[in-house]
Amino acid sequence: MERQLNSTETGFGDVRENYLSICERVAEAMNAAGRSDKARIMAVTKTVAPEKINFAVGLGIDLLGENRVQEFLDKRDEYAPAEVHFIGGLQTNKVKYIIDKVSMIHSVDSMRLAEEIDRRAASQGKIMDILAEVNIGGEESKGGVAADKALEFCAELSELQHIRLRGLMTIPPPGCSEKCFADMQELFEKLKARQTDKNALIDTLSMGMSGDFETAIKFGATIIRIGSGLFGYRKYL
Ligand SMILES: *Cc1c(COP(=O)(O)O)cnc(C)c1O
Repeated sequence: MERQLNSTETGFGDVRENYLSICERVAEAMNAAGRSDKARIMAVTKTVAPEKINFAVGLGIDLLGENRVQEFLDKRDEYAPAEVHFIGGLQTNKVKYIIDKVSMIHSVDSMRLAEEIDRRAASQGKIMDILAEVNIGGEESKGGVAADKALEFCAELSELQHIRLRGLMTIPPPGCSEKCFADMQELFEKLKARQTDKNALIDTLSMGMSGDFETAIKFGATIIRIGSGLFGYRKYL
């Protein structure tokens, strides 16, 4: 069967090897950082065929990351059971398609988006876990709130009744890895220390991808988001 989505040449055996090697590297990085908590491995599934995603779930992956609404809707019926988080840029008018299908949204960077998530969650009778996305590198073209506005934004978010703020997410620009991750850790610690926010349970720092997850772990990442390092390279981003 031909599948447009399956754009990589990586076979299933490679996925197994990649996964084992990532697990080992995560354990080493956790050790080196002296951490005894957990860093969860998320498999980022864009462009990956459901068969391969399910193979990864069979290996022990229990968290999937989706960043395209339409692709997710097209593929999700074929997925083996796993927790799914939405990690991509999200248009307000698309919230309704995913609100009952994911357990966390990592990419919340405006009150307008947060209010729509809150409204849709309320109509489902649920509370949606979210992360505030921070544009830690200050890049103009990127999503996320500015670092110096992040804590204020988090305070505003936690006024909403049907979302629960769980922490922060970032995609640092290439070349800024140590400094950006260190800055994120500092923000995250400040957010955790703040007791005033109402609808918040701050325990999640989502950062680190295939090329930099060890550095992210060093600076406290609790979810690392791995795409190409697990499934092979993809044709489009
Ligand atoms: C694609 C993507 C990843 C994974 O990137 P890799 O470098 O392939 O590991 C992580 N986070 C987000 C938001 C992505 O879009």
